[in-house]
Amino acid sequence: MAEVRTIGVVGAGTMGNGIAHVCARAGFAVVLYDLQQAFLDRGLSTIEKNLAREVAKGKLTAQQADEARARITPVLELDALSGCGVAIEAATEKFAVKAEIFRNLARVLPAGAILASNTSSISITKLAAVTARPAQVIGMHFFNPVPVMQLGEVIRGLQTSQATFDAVYGLSQKLGKTPVEVHDAAGFVSNRVLMPLINEAVYAVMEGIATAEAVDKVFVLGMAHPMGPLTLA
Ligand code: NAD
Repeated sequence: MAEVRTIGVVGAGTMGNGIAHVCARAGFAVVLYDLQQAFLDRGLSTIEKNLAREVAKGKLTAQQADEARARITPVLELDALSGCGVAIEAATEKFAVKAEIFRNLARVLPAGAILASNTSSISITKLAAVTARPAQVIGMHFFNPVPVMQLGEVIRGLQTSQATFDAVYGLSQKLGKTPVEVHDAAGFVSNRVLMPLINEAVYAVMEGIATAEAVDKVFVLGMAHPMGPLTLA
């Protein structure tokens, strides 16, 4: 795969603006696409606020923050992603929405480009199947808030090639994340394990085993979780 210089990000919401932020901070040019100017403006204003916070904390200089912001180009046409070596989709969590985006990304991006999804729960294999390049489709699951959270689940679809996996694993590291390899299964690892935990915590309260505060305290004080499952939910 040719060296990636430009990354397309689809969706400028909670996750998309965070992904654009970390890509730009790592030195990549970013083309950020959403459906309406108001959604792009909101995403960009969040990025500016979060970059300013990093400057205030001494993690970035003001100049580095300005340079990162200047690397992000907001666009309202998906065709503007035609020069991207990688696209990371972070649109609404609906299969039909993502399938349409993947069909279009496969049409617009260069033949060698990688198409990644930040989906929390949709099958990567199924998304890959709407394109004619399933070997180049992969899951890249970031965590909220993206500029802060260390983890990146890198999810292999059934047909994801080793070259695609290696490129995205390396990209994740360049973005400052610690990637973990995961195979395509409902909820991947994070949500597969987390959701039953949250459900059980709710049942514990419903069955009168303990109050919500007590359930959370068990996890914070007994298991060193930074917050309990009910607070997290
Ligand atoms: P969000 O609602 O904040 O943002 C979604 C954005 O996608 C919106 O700006 C919307 O306008 C845009 N969008 C919708 N359809 C589009 C299209 N066809 N083309 C381009 N843009 C489109 O949602 P979010 O929380 O950022 O979640 C995005 C994805 O990330 C989902 O797949 C979600 O499961 C996943 N995710 C979310 C979290 C989280 O904590 N919020 C964590 C990990 C993964």
